[in-house]
Amino acid sequence: MLLHYVSDMPANYCEVALPVPLRLAFTYAIPDRLAGSIFAGSRVLVPFRNRAMTGVVVEVSSRRPDPARVKTVKEIVEALDPIPALTPKLLELGRWVGGYYVAPLGEVFRAMLPPQVDLRHERELLLTDAGRARRDELDAAGNRSEAEVAELALLSLLRIEDRPVRADRLRKLPGGESAAERLLRRRQLEAREVTLHRHARLQKIVAWDSTEDVSSLGEKEARVYHVLAEERGPLPLPALAKLAKVSRSLIERLIRQEKLKSWEEPLAVEEDLFEVDYTPPSNILNADQGRALGEINGWLEAGAFHVGLLYGVTGSGKTEVYLGAVEAALALNKTALILVPEIALTLWIGRFCRARLGASVAVLHSALPEVERAREWWRVRRGEARVVVGTRSAVFAPLENLGLVVVDEEQEASYKQEETPRYHGRDVAIVRAKLEGAVALLGSATPSLESFHNARSGKYHLLQLESRVENRPLAPVEIVDLREDFRATHRAGPLSSKLSEAIAARLDQGTQSLILINRRGYSWFVICRSCGAGIQCENCSISLAYHKQRDRLECHYCGFSRRVPKACPKCASVASGKVDILVGTQMVAKGHDFQRVTLVGVVSADSQLSLPDFRAAERTFQLLTQVAGRAGRGALPGEVLVETYYPEHYAIQLAARQDYLAFFERELQFRRLLHYPPFTALASVLVRHTKIENAIRWSRQLSAFLAPQESRGVKVLGPAAAPLARLKREYRFQFLLKAPKRAQLTRVLSELLTFSEEKEIPERAVLVDVDPLSLF
Ligand code: ADP
Ligand code: ZN
Repeated sequence: MLLHYVSDMPANYCEVALPVPLRLAFTYAIPDRLAGSIFAGSRVLVPFRNRAMTGVVVEVSSRRPDPARVKTVKEIVEALDPIPALTPKLLELGRWVGGYYVAPLGEVFRAMLPPQVDLRHERELLLTDAGRARRDELDAAGNRSEAEVAELALLSLLRIEDRPVRADRLRKLPGGESAAERLLRRRQLEAREVTLHRHARLQKIVAWDSTEDVSSLGEKEARVYHVLAEERGPLPLPALAKLAKVSRSLIERLIRQEKLKSWEEPLAVEEDLFEVDYTPPSNILNADQGRALGEINGWLEAGAFHVGLLYGVTGSGKTEVYLGAVEAALALNKTALILVPEIALTLWIGRFCRARLGASVAVLHSALPEVERAREWWRVRRGEARVVVGTRSAVFAPLENLGLVVVDEEQEASYKQEETPRYHGRDVAIVRAKLEGAVALLGSATPSLESFHNARSGKYHLLQLESRVENRPLAPVEIVDLREDFRATHRAGPLSSKLSEAIAARLDQGTQSLILINRRGYSWFVICRSCGAGIQCENCSISLAYHKQRDRLECHYCGFSRRVPKACPKCASVASGKVDILVGTQMVAKGHDFQRVTLVGVVSADSQLSLPDFRAAERTFQLLTQVAGRAGRGALPGEVLVETYYPEHYAIQLAARQDYLAFFERELQFRRLLHYPPFTALASVLVRHTKIENAIRWSRQLSAFLAPQESRGVKVLGPAAAPLARLKREYRFQFLLKAPKRAQLTRVLSELLTFSEEKEIPERAVLVDVDPLSLF
């Protein structure tokens, strides 16, 4: 389909947010043929800068745009949704996200929407009159250069085809790529964008569709009913035949009899992620769990916005409380959303929910194939799934009549999106609950300082699970002082003698050990045992990783690579010049239930303490407490060994005692004194460019704008070289903005971006992160 440009002005207009880094919406006209099919929240295809682009309608109006502001109004090409993809509540939520995180609305909506699997944009080239003349001229010429030969081939092909040809086909001709560029520049060719609907392979999905009395069904029909209506929900036809142990022709017959309805859907890559015969444990709630659930049920019945913080030590049975709350929400005819911090947990909790709640559970996370994710998303949008389990972006799942949002492990950093829009899933979840008059339930054994502070000050309701289920004891934690170990053994291996012995004992016993290596590297890297120096990337100033197969050191950010040096580059004078390779693995063991683990060892427990980050102590405390909670979860008692060079640090001491409250008090004091969250709203602004002059000039310009803001209550630190001062060949400078009042901060950031646009600083050179979790 071609893009049309308007001639006369039709009666209706709309504002469309497009996924471009501009903080405004664009006005388009609604052509007559689309009248009545475009609403706020609809996805539409529009022409934008010579291309076709998908956007979201934010407003429809009959007001003619001010001709002084908008010169030509283009028409919407196509409406993409039979029902608007975004509900009014989600549009409102998107506006909030855009405002709070100063992010372009179109990019916010793009993050909220399912992947677009049914459309493909393509470029076609066609011959102009000048192109035809050029072809004849080249054809007649006797002596042609190589470039001219390529041009002639391309032009001739277009003339023979006598219609527009796909650009990628022409580029494949010898020299075609640059010939096409030249011909376009000279207007001997013309390009245009076309949008094609992809024809996905389809499969037949069937669902139960009869109100007939179940007791009157035949045996086979009853099996079909059971699978579709009670166990699983709509299924592809072959899967149903297999699960219900019936023939396909029986299913076809039931469709004809209208006991089943059926429709076509794109073929999903993975049919079902859940084990079919999983029976979840049916636990009887203990007194603490019962009390917490009782309170939550009260809020749900009241139907008003509440935030509960479910604070319970590891292994206290929070999952049971979540599920009880979900059941209560469903019983009130509402829907529920469960957010978890990592993909593996969506399967674990999703499986639990499927088994307990049946058909209406959808799972949404970024590792699903796009087709599958889109299918799940639309299943939710059409109201077929009433419970969603997912990771961060599932906070935007299009559930209506939302009653409950659960955020499991609310302190986890993975809830923060590290690209535009840089939102925090937990915070968006709370705002969403507020917009929908729902209950937000945050759960953690080590709540973030912010959340616990809110619970203590009465903004949230604190719900506590005091002990582990069945009163299993928390495993004793012992701190191993690595300095002492080194003095005694004169060995600085990765494992202390104490930890090695403990692991050996577990191997003898036949129980399991869990060893957490608290390093942020992904793989092997090289350090010198004499001077401790690592080898860093010349572009990025971060450690290079060792790749065994290629026997080289490589940078994970920019790809720079070098040979492994024979001697240490820092202390080449050291006689032995020996280079040792140590292991550094990132291994996270949160939330999973390990029944047979009796030893947890933590290697380099303090490696995060020295990072230049005000949350370093909090992260260390959380990690140690969480990992210690993995020991002794089953019937077997456990033991935890924590190795450290800083045994006296309060984060390590208090984690060893698993004393969250003491840690909270101490850390809160520090935050108050130094004006950090939760006492201050924080944002960082990064300026980046490959040319250092530009990075410096723009930083100066922004600095000049920011300096006077101190009088409005916003403190500005910087510009300083960012912690990763050079990344992917870009130079990076950073500001940190602190404000006691959130509204001031938001206003200054928004004005800063406007200022930056006026100064024509490229959009991608300025990155704003509101409530940053890590500094760039
Ligand atoms: P948390 O998320 O609080 O760390 P979980 O929800 O994973 O803890 O529960 C820990 C274990 O306790 C699980 O194996 C769960 O099945 C079990 N459990 C939970 N509630 C009960 C209960 N009331 N009685 C017996 N076992 C329970
Ligand atoms: Zn690099």
